[in-house]
This record gives sequence, structure tokens and C-alpha cells, in this order.
Amino acid sequence: MHCRIEKTKMMENVWMLTDRMGMHMTLLVGDDKALLIDTGYGFDDITAAVREITPLPFDVLLTHGHHDHACGAFQFDHVLMHRDEQAVFAFYAGSWRQRVWQQATNKGLDLSDWTEEEFIRIPCGQAAFMDECEISLGGLTAQILSCPGHTKGSLCVYVKERQLLLPGDDMNPTTWIFFPECEGLGTLIDSLQKASSLPFSQVLCPHHNQLLSRADFDAFLQGLSMENVLSTSEKAYHLWEGKKVFACHPQPHYTLCYDFEKLPEAWKNACRNLSDD
Ligand SMILES: [Zn+2]
Repeated sequence: MHCRIEKTKMMENVWMLTDRMGMHMTLLVGDDKALLIDTGYGFDDITAAVREITPLPFDVLLTHGHHDHACGAFQFDHVLMHRDEQAVFAFYAGSWRQRVWQQATNKGLDLSDWTEEEFIRIPCGQAAFMDECEISLGGLTAQILSCPGHTKGSLCVYVKERQLLLPGDDMNPTTWIFFPECEGLGTLIDSLQKASSLPFSQVLCPHHNQLLSRADFDAFLQGLSMENVLSTSEKAYHLWEGKKVFACHPQPHYTLCYDFEKLPEAWKNACRNLSDD
């Protein structure tokens, strides 16, 4: 296993690590210890990348259990996650690995340091469950928030001293909440509202390589009004066969794909009324 992880310092104490699949992880480095948030697709030696930044001991936390965040979990003794994420983690970081291998080969990635058999037979890794808490890293504090939406056990992280929010997959330039394990849009909005009570000024999303501003977050959340969601929605049924998936635009450069059946009842009714007109 080689390490082809790119390291980018985003601000003091905060690094973005990008694996060979282009997936971003975040490393917070305090005075006493570090915290790695997410583990990427798992093709790269993550500890080697962390060691190029800090010699300090570090914990590993998953914002949620999807394969692009969790397939690297096997490299550690255990990874912290929300209890409600156990089944999602076991599935996507375990039996889904065959699909991940396929995805990587379709991208034409150099996987010469792996064999397919080696990669797909790796078990998902050990989970240690946690709830909302604060993790002190020495001069740097990670506040962990339960924010169901993208999945039931999704976590957001607020880095107090840097006024930085890490929203996990609850917010990305393209946000997906149409998988079977996703919560409805109403739950996602509740979680984003909860996060918005924190005094963050910048946001770092796992599927975007630049910091976003607080204003970007506020505009995204504001754009999730019933009126805006329904008026900007178009069919995206190809994303999940057999489901009524729609794509809407909370803001011009943002897309959110959702399962119509999991919309709040009032929204579904409003939509039916619209289509009756
Ligand atoms: Zn995800």
C-alpha cells in the first residue's frame, strides 16, 4: 500500500488530505493530539500521510459510514462513529468494496500496489461508538454534533478556535439524500439549522477542495425552502432505479438530489396541488 495522498494546509491546525480517488479527509492538529476526520477510499496509507504532518497520537472519526469516507477504516485499531451508523458502515466499508474496486479501475487509477482480491476481502474495521461530545486536542477543540440527514448517524464537527464547520455529506456543492439509508429533507434541514446556531465563519465540505463562507452555508440553507425546492426540482430518476429522485437547486451552483417520498407530507401535498393546476 503506497501513500499517494496530497496534503493541503487550509488554515492554522487544519489540513485537507486528498486520496488517490480525489476524496477529501480533514486532519486537525492540536498541541497534544490530532484528529483525523474520515478515511477516504482506503487505497492509500493514511498514517504515512498524517506522519508527514505531525508525530502526535491521533484519533479517527467518521462523519458517516459511506465507502468514500470509511473504506480506509481498516487501517486503524478502531474508528469513532455514531451508534446509528453501524449498519451503514458495515455494508459500505465491507461488502461494497467490490464496487469501490470497480469504480477505481473505471477511473483508470494506478492500483499496482494492490490486488483486487486483497482489497475486496478486507473487513470493514472496528467501530467505537460515540455521541455528541467535545474532543480536546490541546489548544484546539472539536465539537461533535449529531446531524442526521445524509444518513441517520451523520456527524458534523465544529472546530471552535478556528470557527470552522465540517458538515460531512450533509452539505456539499452536490448533496445526495436519496439512498435508502438517507433521512428525509425535513430532517436534513433540522440538522443544518442546528449547526447554524454555532458561530462558524467558514465551512469545509468533504467533496469540495476549497473553504466556503458562512454566507454560502446560510444561502444553501435558505434555498431549502419548500417554495424554492419545489420550483427548482427536476426528475433525476436515473440516479436510483425505482425511486422518485428529484434534483433541486438551493442556490444556482448547488444541487440537492432527494427522494420525493421522504419529503415532509405538507410539501408532497403542495407539490400535488401544483401538478393538479
Ligand atoms: Zn455519504
